[in-house]
Amino acid sequence: MMQKRIYLDNNATTMVDPKVEKIMQPFFCEHYGNPNSLHKFGTEIHPALHDAFNKLYEGINASEEDDIIITSCATESNNWVLKGVYFDLIAKGEKNHIITTDVEHPAIGATCRFLESLGVKVTYLSINKDGNISANQVREAITEQTALVSIMWANNETGLIFPIEEIGAICKEKGVLFHTDAVQAIGKIPVDVQKANVDFLSFSAHKFHGPKGIGALYIKKGRQLTPLLHGGEHMRGRRSGTLNVPYIIGMGEAMSLAQSYLDYENSTILELRNYLEDALLKIPDVFVIGDRKHRVPNTTLISIRGIEGEAMLWDLNKAGIACSTGSACASEDLEANPVMVAIGADKELAHTAVRISLSRFNTKEEIDYTIEVFNKAVERLRKISSSYEGKI
Ligand code: PLP
Repeated sequence: MMQKRIYLDNNATTMVDPKVEKIMQPFFCEHYGNPNSLHKFGTEIHPALHDAFNKLYEGINASEEDDIIITSCATESNNWVLKGVYFDLIAKGEKNHIITTDVEHPAIGATCRFLESLGVKVTYLSINKDGNISANQVREAITEQTALVSIMWANNETGLIFPIEEIGAICKEKGVLFHTDAVQAIGKIPVDVQKANVDFLSFSAHKFHGPKGIGALYIKKGRQLTPLLHGGEHMRGRRSGTLNVPYIIGMGEAMSLAQSYLDYENSTILELRNYLEDALLKIPDVFVIGDRKHRVPNTTLISIRGIEGEAMLWDLNKAGIACSTGSACASEDLEANPVMVAIGADKELAHTAVRISLSRFNTKEEIDYTIEVFNKAVERLRKISSSYEGKI
């Protein structure tokens, strides 16, 4: 019998939707021209590209006058905003301060630390014990020197949604640029750049059933941002490099599908996630991080006292179930989950986190099997755990 393969690590990456794969196919071997070429091979691509960009604009409710610039990934988009603002404002001596949080993805955290090495002052707002931050923390941190606030829309570990609309309003009032990393929000909750008053927004196709290696940066009309990549003046000179046509078309389709599945995510997937959580919470000494009301519908960060997250992952993996202990990039080292540390979990508990993230391709049958495997794994691992003294 074939072993089951159940993918519950959709915050790390997602399966490409077969409809996305299909729409991309003709742009590899048939319509492979460079859209900048003046001949037919180039120009015949324009309608499909135009359509893909329209889908991206609609997906985040950008206005026609704003820019959506294609990048290679959200890591690039995030780097671009921080370094671009550095070149535009900070290096020129106009301002010298950036505000972010202590639970951003490393694409923000590591870039901020790099900028600190160049003399930039960075405030890392701490999340509270519920895993969230308040808009008031941002208000209090803003000074005359603040050039940029960069705060994620939803956290990749907990799924907690940060108060982006309130923060956007504060930044607008104070005349400070506002960037949000919306990688974990797109396709899970509505994302509206106008309502949220954002100046810059990053996203990445592979988190919403599009291909890997393509992302984008939304730039509000009139906002300056020094390019990271200079060259052939592609994308109106904002990011040079020949356009990755099949992937742009795939990302457009993935965005459009993500919008059409939003209701499904927030009804069926939400119910499935809650059903799984309710079942796992029946196990003694199991905790879920973050209030359900403030989380994206697909994510659960669960802590199982007495069991190292990695040991749990190993048992789940043996049974064909894929989860993670934290962000994909950090899951190969055995450090404590950074969000668990940030909410003040004790050292032992911080090592017990397991992140389960669903997608529209998961089924009730898969979740029932996961619950069964989880229960057996907890029983087995607690029996051999030296630190656990509670009820199994
Ligand atoms: N930001 C967040 C919140 C993420 O979860 C990730 C990926 O895990 C990234 C940025 C990086 O995205 P990419 O893989 O497109 O560079």
